[in-house]
Amino acid sequence: MATNLLGLDSQGMERLFAGMGEKPFRARQVLKWIHRRGAADFAAMTEIAKELRAKLNEAAAIEPPVVVGDGTAPDGTRKWLLKVDGANAVEAVFIPEDGRGTLCVSSQAGCTLDCQFCSTGKQGFNRNLTAAEIIGQLWLANRSLGVHGLAGGVGAGNRAISNVVFMGMGEPMLNLDAVIPAARLMIDENGYGLSRRRVTVSTSGVVPGMDRLAAECPVALAVSLHAPDDALRDRLVPINRKHPIRELMKACNRYLERAPRDFITMEYVMLDGVNDSDAQAKALLGIAVQVRCKFNLIPFNPFPDSGFKRSSPERIRRFAEILQRAGLTVTTRKTRGDGIDAACGQLAGDVTDRTRRRITTGGTVPIVEHRA
Ligand code: SAH
Ligand code: SF4
Repeated sequence: MATNLLGLDSQGMERLFAGMGEKPFRARQVLKWIHRRGAADFAAMTEIAKELRAKLNEAAAIEPPVVVGDGTAPDGTRKWLLKVDGANAVEAVFIPEDGRGTLCVSSQAGCTLDCQFCSTGKQGFNRNLTAAEIIGQLWLANRSLGVHGLAGGVGAGNRAISNVVFMGMGEPMLNLDAVIPAARLMIDENGYGLSRRRVTVSTSGVVPGMDRLAAECPVALAVSLHAPDDALRDRLVPINRKHPIRELMKACNRYLERAPRDFITMEYVMLDGVNDSDAQAKALLGIAVQVRCKFNLIPFNPFPDSGFKRSSPERIRRFAEILQRAGLTVTTRKTRGDGIDAACGQLAGDVTDRTRRRITTGGTVPIVEHRA
């Protein structure tokens, strides 16, 4: 089977080229063609010798996911539904803002972790995405946003996408074999050339994954905290039963030792009457002192039968104020993509569940059945 070059980082590409008896600089040239210039086939790669292009045509391919849905909300937020195989489609979302454009990418078809307020979690889980399927979201978005002229190509500075966040479907820390090469391509100067601070991996708190990412590709880190104590977090974010808040905070500090960015973003979904009281804000301060961090409050985005309600704007303002008065930096995420279900936590894609989610009682981490 032809190797899909889309998913190879510079190391992977050099290894492949070495195996074909080609020099490392050829690998870099091809990498640039694919990611900086958005080339979809080898014929376009004009300065590469014809013989090598023929060889590549035999042994390799550039195969992105297939776009099966593409919608834009009135606020400019754009969502693509990407078919990754016969059974699964995942979503990527582009969020334009003043002076920057953020692409939110998915890392898994579904998610095994079953956070109570998350639509992706409720879909169950099918499989990990490959590195090609993850980077393919950025490759496709760049092409669809019309900033890739094949003639000469454009520099990263001119691109619509200035930031990438792993906040789409799935838990990136449970798929690091694919997430790490994809993140490396994002920051590679021959790839997308984004600074490490402009690539953010968000985790619900998979501690071993945080340590591995710190060692292998320490991009910016966001942690989905969502509760000030273990009793509530155990319920909202079931992975907390395995890695409780104390362990999570220790892992954050280990991450900061390696990360070029000097703080962790703590995400906190605002759920009416569940985690949004004054007392809970004050309890959070006890956690915040343990780690250099900023808070990002996310108004809950509803989906059918979620059982939760969004906190009122007044409640969110008051909650933020308590944190700010204690000296913390707090931002409240603007809700984007209304009308196309593109807001945080609303991405469901089209996932064929292979877990026993639907026959387990709520909240248990399901067992994944392996395909024969
Ligand atoms: N699995 C990773 C990344 C994907 S979710 C994680 O959990 O961090 C990205 C962010 O959206 C997380 O902070 C997640 O908790 C939050 N989120 C999930 N469902 C949401 C919802 N319905 N409304 C608002 N935010 C939600
Ligand atoms: Fe998975 Fe993140 Fe959703 Fe939790 S919030 S179910 S970890 S995608």
